[in-house]
Amino acid sequence: MTPRIPSPVVELDDERLRRHGVRLWLKRDDLIHPDLPGNKWRKLVGNLRRAADEGHRTLLTFGGAYSHHIAATAAAGRLLGIDTVGVIRGEAHRPLNPVLGRAAADGMTLTYLDRERYRRKHLPEVLDPLRERFGDFHHVPEGGSNDLGVRGCRDLGAEIAAQLPGTDLVCVPVGSGGTIAGVAAGVPPSWRVLGVSVLRGDGFLDPEVTRLQREAFGGRRGDWSIDYRHHFGGYARRTPELDGFMADFRARHGIRLEPVYVAKSLAAVYGTAGSPLVPAGSRVVAVVTGPPPWW
Ligand SMILES: *Cc1c(COP(=O)(O)O)cnc(C)c1O
Repeated sequence: MTPRIPSPVVELDDERLRRHGVRLWLKRDDLIHPDLPGNKWRKLVGNLRRAADEGHRTLLTFGGAYSHHIAATAAAGRLLGIDTVGVIRGEAHRPLNPVLGRAAADGMTLTYLDRERYRRKHLPEVLDPLRERFGDFHHVPEGGSNDLGVRGCRDLGAEIAAQLPGTDLVCVPVGSGGTIAGVAAGVPPSWRVLGVSVLRGDGFLDPEVTRLQREAFGGRRGDWSIDYRHHFGGYARRTPELDGFMADFRARHGIRLEPVYVAKSLAAVYGTAGSPLVPAGSRVVAVVTGPPPWW
């Protein structure tokens, strides 16, 4: 369970950015743990500690059938000897897909909620029957984004501030919003933090990130904003343009970008370098939040 912290930072030499006067470092948070990469470890560690402190032997959480968080929670349970329950949105499918198959192999108990009830998963009407069935558990919301998860991501921001004090802008992908909520609170207030939504839609994550910051810190923290124009069709969708960007990135830098989150956030940096979002002269840190280990 011991992570490699601080995770390394490396500067990329890339003429497509250099010609806009932009310098880019990668924060390789994907390298902190072989089974629990990047932000999943950051978000789970505080929750696991809390579960242990409160004497819970079971951790229960929610996610979609392809959720990185579900698989990471299962891996953490195996490593720490804690029972895990994954409540999956939608119907059971056999055979299990690779993500759920891995979670089951790690000892996670899987159960399913129809979409209607899944929307009410934070309410007692859903949680109480789960407690009856699985006993007392520590509840971690979808994506691992609660106050403890967000505070774990604040440490990631603080780590970047210590490693690269001259930074102007930090870029992170946004799914459930916990990572940006924490990172923005951990970096100096003069830095900008740019989140790149990997979901289709406009504006809807801003109130969620504000809510998470209020829950974790008592109010809004840091100078953050979210870009909604680089989702490339929506969650887990890909386009030839994104595939081309990833192939090109791999050829130039020898790094296979994780396609659901990381590739989209880097494509946003490259696509906006030299614009007011990423002005000439910027020193940018892009957080490589994954990939998950099965990828
Ligand atoms: C889960 C995940 C994210 C999303 O983080 P949120 O805190 O949910 O916004 C980003 N990158 C990777 C690689 C992930 O697995």
